[in-house]
Amino acid sequence: MIEKIGVVGAGQMGAGIAQVAAMNGFSVILNDIKDEFLQRGRERIEKSLSRFVEKERMSEEQKKAALGRIETTLEMKAFEDADFVIEAVIEDQALKLDVFRQLDETCKPGVILASNTSSIPITRIAAGTKRPSEVIGMHFMNPVPLMKLVEIIRGLATSEETFETTQALAKRFQKTPVAANDFPGFISNRILLPMINEAIFALYEGAGTAEAIDSVMKLGMNHPMGPLQLADLIGLDTCLSIMEVLHEGFGDPKYRPCPLLKKYVDAGYLGRKTGRGFYKY
Ligand code: NAD
Repeated sequence: MIEKIGVVGAGQMGAGIAQVAAMNGFSVILNDIKDEFLQRGRERIEKSLSRFVEKERMSEEQKKAALGRIETTLEMKAFEDADFVIEAVIEDQALKLDVFRQLDETCKPGVILASNTSSIPITRIAAGTKRPSEVIGMHFMNPVPLMKLVEIIRGLATSEETFETTQALAKRFQKTPVAANDFPGFISNRILLPMINEAIFALYEGAGTAEAIDSVMKLGMNHPMGPLQLADLIGLDTCLSIMEVLHEGFGDPKYRPCPLLKKYVDAGYLGRKTGRGFYKY
């Protein structure tokens, strides 16, 4: 029976995952490398829960109870009594491999280790552990408390039991799981990122202004947000790193990152988080 969820990394995604688990009655151990990051994660969760209360989707008591179920810690050792662990540290392969090695040593046998990676092969992460059949991708969307989809990615060695348990857990989080196989970008980013990259090419080549490109996709295709606005939200560094994974993983020039995207990343124009991307904030 899964009751206690471990979450590694208290950033935008980790905090969101911890919040959703706590809102659905699980106790949560949330870990990061510095107190200030844990504090920031907790503030993010509190703010998001308050919005649920304002919208009358949750009572003040339920908010307090959810917050009370989240324990924060700097110690990996705290994962000793977790029943399921979700990793959401930064998108760095060497770091993720190291985190999985530590989790593999710390967690009870049989505990499933899931990664929220956007693009690193699950098969590769699993191969670095002694429990590859219990490693799986659990790809939440941003912002986690609002988005329904969770892509569930089987690595080559992932067992059917691991898949079934993870899918059932996503449903207990009130999310909709969709199965994907372990190809570069899985399903979501394989389709989304080339569209964003093409929008950047359209801007680069002068097919239209940023506003025009976003307006066409919003008004003409009913997208809630234009592709360049969305790129600024995701972070241009993240967009570039996913395009590089697609380009390298498929070895197909159609995934070549737009030179303008590279130039913006070099300039430190990373989108909303740095105050400047395709738009100024
Ligand atoms: P973020 O930078 O907001 O958070 C990452 C957190 O991990 C930071 O708080 C950092 O201090 C922490 N961290 C770093 N090393 C650690 C370690 N050794 N142990 C514990 N914590 C550590 O990043 P994010 O946007 O939350 O992304 C996290 C993961 O989720 C990435 O793999 C990313 O690709 C994936 N993802 C992101 C999005 C998105 O839209 N941002 C969507 C889906 C998936």
